[in-house]
Amino acid sequence: MNFHIMTLFPEMVMNGLSESITGRAMKNGFINVDTVNIRDFAQNKYGHVDDYTYGGGAGMLMQAEPVYLAYQSILERIKAGEEAFDKNENSMNDNRKPRVIYMTPQGTPFKQSMAVEYSKEEDIIILCGHYEGIDERVLEMIVTDNVSIGDFVLTGGELPAMMIVDAVSRLVPGVLGGEDSAVYESFYDGLLEYPQYTRPEVFMGKAVPEVLLSGHHKNIEKWRYEQSLKRTKERRPDLYEKYINNKNK
Ligand code: SAM
Repeated sequence: MNFHIMTLFPEMVMNGLSESITGRAMKNGFINVDTVNIRDFAQNKYGHVDDYTYGGGAGMLMQAEPVYLAYQSILERIKAGEEAFDKNENSMNDNRKPRVIYMTPQGTPFKQSMAVEYSKEEDIIILCGHYEGIDERVLEMIVTDNVSIGDFVLTGGELPAMMIVDAVSRLVPGVLGGEDSAVYESFYDGLLEYPQYTRPEVFMGKAVPEVLLSGHHKNIEKWRYEQSLKRTKERRPDLYEKYINNKNK
């Protein structure tokens, strides 16, 4: 799976993703992360890609043209890659637009179900804004999904983009090693995950729940399910209610 990230800070993105599991996934070829520096498409010799907003107001806005040109360069890379692999049937024809996710506090809050959906794509383009954001016209032209990582405002879309790449990558076959790892996790079935324990059996007087040492798989499964329900009810009553309603349908 290929992630193409449009950003003014490619090093920030690459430094963040080249560690740990995503770094290993890149090295082993399960995912490919390719950054495009929007500043390389500046239309002036100073490398400026921002300007004042029409109508006044505080802050600068990223201009449409460098963003559009950066996008075009990614489309060309994707096309060239497809031709190189001679995927004639799936080849991106001029009518097919790859998914372009704009990281914005005005977008749909990111969820595990969206990560699952994105993990089925061959190529995903992620657009990171900065300053006050990006000229609306280019957003209208290229963006397919507006995605937020929560109801707060960050200085740029780089951290949100890294979060998307991380959450999606771990669903790509091979990235986590054990294929079940991503299956038995919070949100997978609409519930939060049960509490987990590792050695030692007793830590500062607190013992691991006995059932987990019993070797009785059915009882362990039952305990875990009950704990998941309890935890979800306590911590995320919204999810709990949805789960119960779905179950009773
Ligand atoms: N003026 C914009 C607004 O009010 O919607 C906020 C711009 S923000 C300072 C700069 C950039 O950071 C945005 O273009 C976006 O890419 C990114 N960003 C900030 N908060 C975000 C969030 N909660 N989720 C996703 N991206 C975010």
